[in-house]
Amino acid sequence: EVRVRFAPSPTGYLHIGGLRTALYDYLFAKNKGGKYVLRIEDTDRTRYVEGAIENLIQALEWAGVKHDEGVFIEDGKLVQKGEYGPYIQSERLDIYKKYIEELIEKGHAYYCFCSKERLDKVREEQKAKGLVPKYDGYCRSIDIEEAKKRIEAGEEYTVRLKLPANKEIKFHDAIRGEVTINTKDLDDQVLMKSDGFPTYHFAVVVDDHLMKITHIVRGEEWLPSTPKHVYLYEAFGWEKPEYIHLPTVLNKNKKKLSKRHGDVAVSDFRKKGYLPEALVNYLALVGWSPEDNQEIFSMNELIDKFSFDRVARTGGVFDKGKLNWINGQYIRNSSVERITELAIPHLKEAGYITEEDVKERYDWIKTMVSTVQESLSYVGEITEKVDFYFNDEVKLEDEKAEEVIKEEQVPELLKALKEELNDIEEIDEEFASSIFKTLKKKTGIKGRQLFMPIRVVLTGQVHGPEMVNIIMVLGKENILKRIEYVEN
Ligand code: GLU
Repeated sequence: EVRVRFAPSPTGYLHIGGLRTALYDYLFAKNKGGKYVLRIEDTDRTRYVEGAIENLIQALEWAGVKHDEGVFIEDGKLVQKGEYGPYIQSERLDIYKKYIEELIEKGHAYYCFCSKERLDKVREEQKAKGLVPKYDGYCRSIDIEEAKKRIEAGEEYTVRLKLPANKEIKFHDAIRGEVTINTKDLDDQVLMKSDGFPTYHFAVVVDDHLMKITHIVRGEEWLPSTPKHVYLYEAFGWEKPEYIHLPTVLNKNKKKLSKRHGDVAVSDFRKKGYLPEALVNYLALVGWSPEDNQEIFSMNELIDKFSFDRVARTGGVFDKGKLNWINGQYIRNSSVERITELAIPHLKEAGYITEEDVKERYDWIKTMVSTVQESLSYVGEITEKVDFYFNDEVKLEDEKAEEVIKEEQVPELLKALKEELNDIEEIDEEFASSIFKTLKKKTGIKGRQLFMPIRVVLTGQVHGPEMVNIIMVLGKENILKRIEYVEN
């Protein structure tokens, strides 16, 4: 059975690249009828952020990248499910302790008593000589019995991997092919820190083995660490998993996508009003491509078509424009109800509507949303798009709009429209949908000469959505104010 895991560290938020890794884990597992596990790697206590585990899980749930096993949130609390728990590494310390002792017994690891000062000094000296800094092996030959006495006497210690001096370590990566590294280019990695916590390298191997993980999918920044992991599997005599190192998600300038250059947290995209299906659809294509040119995929289609064979070796570029295009497609295909729900917080925050409007004029809000839904790349954009509804002034968007306003039939047209408006209490659907016919009958003006000036007076633009809803959203008073504004 295929078993994969996504193993984030709770250091803040879910990065868009992390979501892509999780997504590929999920797609692969579902495609193979396997299991996808969420494990929390929180052994670096200095980087731990309160609430980060919850944030990660919520972001994954929102995206619809659902795990089968591991850590979940239920009724606001973290719960763990599955046969191979605990799935939070800080709850597995006694397990690591047992395995580190086994490794020391077997002669593949040793106690190290070097102080930070000594290690810093060695590193500086090596750098000064132009060498790549690495542990000099000072404690390698300390006898185990002596080491145990020093520990009993209260000395601080770490445990290091005892790599053989000159050994080729080989493994296969599904995207890179054969990878070979000689141990002389590797460090005697710390496996257990002085605080009793394992390092990532040790915990990841022990857990992947005990959790029966068959395929390790992760970012290529971990590729240089993999030989150490492979060595550990061999030292323990465990069967190695398959490795799949994904190319980094890059920005337009082919640099790593980072916080300094805009949004990278999944929650940022959620807040701006990207739809989860659209984000997932787009992310699937950052690095992977289908056999044909299909671009819009449901999750089930992705599951069906996904394979690591079609993941490129070179980094995938995260293209905001493409994401916006895909998201726009999903917005257009969503119900106006859904988009209205997502739009309300943005409209409130921008001060266009209040909670009272939401309660009393929900249909009016919905109609307003419907007039701009087609034009949105993400829901947050709605505040710009509906701005014109909330100004008494008419902002003429371009020269074309200015010319339209100056056409000779315009004064007569506006006068007739004013008269019609003054005859009624408030605009209803019947009025809105028959007004052009009425004006045509009344003035004899027709076609473009009739429609265009009214569109420009009401919206400031020569293009835009259907007028009936716009007329309804604006209402009598607003339209009269606009006419007055243009007339003066
Ligand atoms: N905890 C590591 C991370 O935060 C996981 C790397 C791996 O998947 O092995 O990226």
